[in-house]
Amino acid sequence: MKLAARIEQVSPSLTLAIAAKAKAMKADGIDVCSFSAGEPDFDTPDHIKAAAHAALDQGKTRYGPAAGEPKLREAIARKLQDDNGLCYGMDNVIVTNGGKQSLFNLMLALIEPGDEVLIPVPYWLSYPEMVKLAGGKPVLLPTTVEDSFKITADQLRQAVTPSTKLFIFNSPSNPTGMVYTPDEVRAIADVLVEKNLWVVADEIYEKILYDGAKHLSIGAAGPEIYERTITSSGFAKTYAMTGWRVGFLAGPSQIIQAVTTIQSHSTSNVCTFAQYGAIAAYEGSQDCVKTMVGAFAERREAMYNHLSSIPGLTCPKPYGAFYMFANISKLGIPSLDFCNDLLDGHQVAAVPGVAFGADDAVRFSYATDMDTINKGMERLSAFVRSL
Ligand code: GLU
Repeated sequence: MKLAARIEQVSPSLTLAIAAKAKAMKADGIDVCSFSAGEPDFDTPDHIKAAAHAALDQGKTRYGPAAGEPKLREAIARKLQDDNGLCYGMDNVIVTNGGKQSLFNLMLALIEPGDEVLIPVPYWLSYPEMVKLAGGKPVLLPTTVEDSFKITADQLRQAVTPSTKLFIFNSPSNPTGMVYTPDEVRAIADVLVEKNLWVVADEIYEKILYDGAKHLSIGAAGPEIYERTITSSGFAKTYAMTGWRVGFLAGPSQIIQAVTTIQSHSTSNVCTFAQYGAIAAYEGSQDCVKTMVGAFAERREAMYNHLSSIPGLTCPKPYGAFYMFANISKLGIPSLDFCNDLLDGHQVAAVPGVAFGADDAVRFSYATDMDTINKGMERLSAFVRSL
């Protein structure tokens, strides 16, 4: 069969594939320690589930507006004002099937064939594939561990060509866990304004910060960058709502309208009663977030101590999200082989860095319980010693 050319240049999501393989092995009774998908192991907080139950009971089971329930869009706009200093009304917000769909829709709305999209490496693996599916050209900006995996404002300036349309900015970062300081964010914003570019800020991990790290939304860095920013986020990581598929995009109303048109022809609205759970997430107590971030902080210490003690691995300490990005270059083995052997031989699932544009590293998610971390890291240590 001849498939469309657009699909031939795109790979399936390796994070989802490895997570599915680990789950299938577990279902077969194999004792797998999974550090694969970035999925909090907590259950969704009760008050959020109760709000979705109540919405079901009240008959919120029908089609709604393609852009999302007005009450949720208002709650998102309020949150963006209060937490992020971004001034939006509900016409500036669309509710999407997770942060992933918000980014995908945006690429379709903004990118034309030949447009270049700047993406720092290591990147979340879906960014370049989404750009390609929209007909654009991903342009990768390399970073090093010595630079804490962050690009500089000068590097960004030098990468801009007449075809550059958009910059994808993800802080805190998946897969490295690095966080740009407010000064670094402002320096990048200045270049984007100077070069008249759009920026999409993927802020899905903004609440998961450690050691006093500060998050500044790039759209709040000044009035000129505000006009060129589209912010993408969602409920999955902060409120342990991965399976609910509720995310959003916020930005200039013309772009939000275009994205809404795309959504009206693809998925229509996000599951109506799930949106009522999301309203409760923003309007209810935020203590659940504190509790979960506190647990991630303890797990981060534990995993970092384990990884740092394994000869041959080096790992910068992350300041946000829930990933460790360990360098394996001293071991002389490609990341895909490393992860396959680790899973098949030692029942530990991790994601090869090659999926994120860095074949000399492996990503370990610590959004899992402490027993799994201790056991899995012991197995990892035995595996590395055996190489
Ligand atoms: N974003 C998460 C991760 O990187 C979930 C999997 C995915 O959507 O790729 O693990």
